[in-house]
Amino acid sequence: MKRGIRLTSILLVFICLSLALLTAWQVWISRERALHELNVANLNLVQALDNYTAGVIRQSELVLIELTDRLQNGAAEHEPQRLQTLLQKQAEVLGLANAIVAYDSRGNRLIASASSPTPNLNAADRAFFVHHRDDPSSDIFIGPTIKSRITGDWVFSVSRRLNDSEGHFAGVVAVTLDVEHFLSFFGSLDLGEHGSMSLSTGDAKLLFRQPFREQDVGMDWSDSPILQLLREHREGTIAQTSRIDGVERVYAFHRNDRLPLITIVALGRDDALAAWRHNAQLFASLILLLLVAVGVIGQRLILDIRRRSRAERQLLSAQEELLDANSRLEVLASQDGLTGLANRRSFDQTLEVEIRRAQRRGSSLSLLLFDIDLFKRYNDRYGHVAGDDCLRAVAALLKQCMRRPGDLAARYGGEELAVILPNTTGEGAEAVVQSFMQALQQRNLRHEASPFARVTVSAGVASLTLDQQDSSVLALALIEAADQALYRAKSNGRNRMESTEVAGEHR
Ligand code: GH3
Ligand code: MG
Ligand code: MG
Repeated sequence: MKRGIRLTSILLVFICLSLALLTAWQVWISRERALHELNVANLNLVQALDNYTAGVIRQSELVLIELTDRLQNGAAEHEPQRLQTLLQKQAEVLGLANAIVAYDSRGNRLIASASSPTPNLNAADRAFFVHHRDDPSSDIFIGPTIKSRITGDWVFSVSRRLNDSEGHFAGVVAVTLDVEHFLSFFGSLDLGEHGSMSLSTGDAKLLFRQPFREQDVGMDWSDSPILQLLREHREGTIAQTSRIDGVERVYAFHRNDRLPLITIVALGRDDALAAWRHNAQLFASLILLLLVAVGVIGQRLILDIRRRSRAERQLLSAQEELLDANSRLEVLASQDGLTGLANRRSFDQTLEVEIRRAQRRGSSLSLLLFDIDLFKRYNDRYGHVAGDDCLRAVAALLKQCMRRPGDLAARYGGEELAVILPNTTGEGAEAVVQSFMQALQQRNLRHEASPFARVTVSAGVASLTLDQQDSSVLALALIEAADQALYRAKSNGRNRMESTEVAGEHR
């Protein structure tokens, strides 16, 4: 039963552990899946934003190409008003353009889409001007983000070099793009409480970031692991802590394949995993509930097994006690209470059984009957209690004289004792009687009312010879014969033995 409890406990622990492990595994898998789905969505979004920005810049480039062409054809000198109107219209169509401006080789403003409140602005110190002055390439240049001297807004520029007819530096044409427009577009996308989007130049200088902070403008993040990844891949994802606000985010980044532009979308890790966390907590709570239920049921089961095993043990011990009592009762039922010899019932049964066996085997059988001489006088002289003691002593002595395991000494009744001696002839039986009488003589139990001055017995011996009678008749005959022999012994002066033989038949 203990094994049953141990097995049940092991099974329960196994079930609970498996459930817990499976849950942990499931939660981990679903977290990985949530992150993966999030990364895929972020990559799609970052690509869309890159497309949008690239589109805007390409439109600006078209405007710049046309403006370059017109300026090189002398439009600024011949038709300045017409050019100004054109630029104004182009800026309006472009939508995001803060201004379209042309500068001469010294950085002075030649013409602009919007009239400036502060005339004679010089851009010779601006990064885009310095870049084009020193770089003969006719490729466009992007950024950095600056505060417009014309409108005071945060802008970044898309610019192109102007050459004269001999290919010398003749100035710069630039479209300044309003950061605010980008921010309001980027801001219209819901990226959660800690989400962010940013646009940077190819050398990892921040053009702007949504949410916008002035101090972030122009930030150099070229030592970030993202840039290292971008050297090998066009796009990718990474989880890291933001250096701007210390929030842990999941980043998706994309480098434009034609323009020096890097777009980044980032989601707060906690925001991103909120749905997963909610589901995982629900799932884990359910499993916990299940585990508690399994635990409670298991404990009940073990208690039940324990209770049942206790009941079984009690039943077993009750059964043992009953068997014990039964065997004690059997002994009591076959024993004489005073002398401890077999009682009369047991004697009768044994005699019949032994007679049948003797008939079957053709073996001999003897019966001894003893009667204590003048026992009435003993009682009268010493009292009934002493008489009982004497009877017990004589019985104990008789028992000691029984040598073979099959011999049975019994109390036949009153002060009469009987002995069944299977497989014993008359001679053998007489020898047993004699040895008992000698033992009694040696014991010398005082009996002053007897002519022998000690307790003596008279004995009748009856031995079986083969005859046709059946066992019960034969038993009576044998007892009768022994009794008569005993009577003869009494008549012949007591403290002696008389023998007789009874005829039987071998079956
Ligand atoms: P005898 O056999 O020699 O002729 O004389 P007796 O005195 O023994 O004669 P009887 O058989 O008539 O008397 C038997 C007496 O044994 C009667 C009774 O007082 C006594 N007796 C029988 N059974 C018991 C017993 O269990 N305890 C005691 N103390 N006495 C018993
Ligand atoms: Mg008697
Ligand atoms: Mg007697």
